[in-house]
Amino acid sequence: MKNLPLHWKIIIGLVLGLGYGILSATLGWGLFTTHWVAPFGTIFINLLKLIAVPLVLASLITGVASLSDLKKLSRIGGKTIAIYIITTAISVTIGLVIVNGLRPGDKVPEEMKIKLQQTYLEDANSRAGSAQKVKDRGPLQPIVDMVPSNFFNSAQSNRNMLQIVFVAIFLGIGLIQVPKGKAKPVLDFFEGFNDVIIKMVDIIMLMAPYGVFALIAQTINKVAGDNIGQVLELLGALGYYMLAVIIGLLLHMIGTYTTVLKLFSKMPLKTFYQGIAPAQLLAFSTSSSGATLPVTMERCEDELGVSEEVSSFVLPLGATINMDGTALYQAVAAVFIAQTLGMELNLGAQLTIILTAVLASIGTAAVPGAGIIMLVIILEAVGVPSEGIALILGVDRILDMMRTTVNVTGDASVAVAVASTENQINIPNGS
Ligand code: ASP
Repeated sequence: MKNLPLHWKIIIGLVLGLGYGILSATLGWGLFTTHWVAPFGTIFINLLKLIAVPLVLASLITGVASLSDLKKLSRIGGKTIAIYIITTAISVTIGLVIVNGLRPGDKVPEEMKIKLQQTYLEDANSRAGSAQKVKDRGPLQPIVDMVPSNFFNSAQSNRNMLQIVFVAIFLGIGLIQVPKGKAKPVLDFFEGFNDVIIKMVDIIMLMAPYGVFALIAQTINKVAGDNIGQVLELLGALGYYMLAVIIGLLLHMIGTYTTVLKLFSKMPLKTFYQGIAPAQLLAFSTSSSGATLPVTMERCEDELGVSEEVSSFVLPLGATINMDGTALYQAVAAVFIAQTLGMELNLGAQLTIILTAVLASIGTAAVPGAGIIMLVIILEAVGVPSEGIALILGVDRILDMMRTTVNVTGDASVAVAVASTENQINIPNGS
């Protein structure tokens, strides 16, 4: 057991958590699970979140400061953002092709539609309210939001990761410009700090199998309550919709990321997936690319050989703006809701979905359940009533786990691709 690779230990935790969760829902142990099992999952996620801001700050400052010229920084930035946007657009297109081909919306029984709308309407309205706040902002607001007026305010919440990225790059640029003697003590400090933080990530990961067990058990507990029969009924009614999302995600992962890796790097797929597996499993268990970020960074650097310079820039940016899984899901969900409500979306509307889904996924926070809030904006853009999200809320958490896994895989594959084109990768021997 001691020598078992980490991803196997996490898989065991996941499977046991799944088994325990089902048992707990069947035997009515909900309260016990909430009070005695779930807290370990919360502690684990809190530790990961705790480490995210200092990690990004320290590794990005040292990363930028080690780039001797700023041209390189803008080149890496340009490449990263271009690949991020192109892969996201591809994922939305895959989602649209599948949902139009399978037409899962036609397969929901009439009485189930009414029941779903009634059950989730209140919840749907509150999410539509959150989306409205986002929509009321001006077009340049996201850029304004990136520039904080006070660093300590930004460091207060992990949702402000782009502000931290901005401050770190700015500070790194400042460091390049001052005389070496002056910069050295500051740089030495951040380098040492960075090493300490990475060690802390290693320590946190020792807890991963137990944390994952608790997280999965509590997720099932929350979704199923003490009535697992209800969940099975829901899964039956929305089975085709879920299938459409899952097929899309798999195709994107297998097709698009393999192409990106083959096109830009020499890394064998096996090496890539073996290296990144713990981050994928964590993304699946936490439904949060933000919480997974420290592990994604650690795996990319230590197991895939991506230089710190590249990983510390590409990955925090990716966790915040690159969400292929979310974009694909949003496209499928929007068309599914329209189909269920008996509305046909013409080509213009489908093109609008591509554009809005790419933008909405960029604006989606890297936390559980954020994707469905931004879905409201897409629905409104194509004239589908936003209350329609009531239809899919019941199974959203399950799909969130899967789309987050794809989001994290996308970030890692782009990190490998960018590092390879910059000659900043040290591919380990594929074992
Ligand atoms: N949970 C996703 C993530 O953190 C965002 C979403 O809800 O789609 O990547």
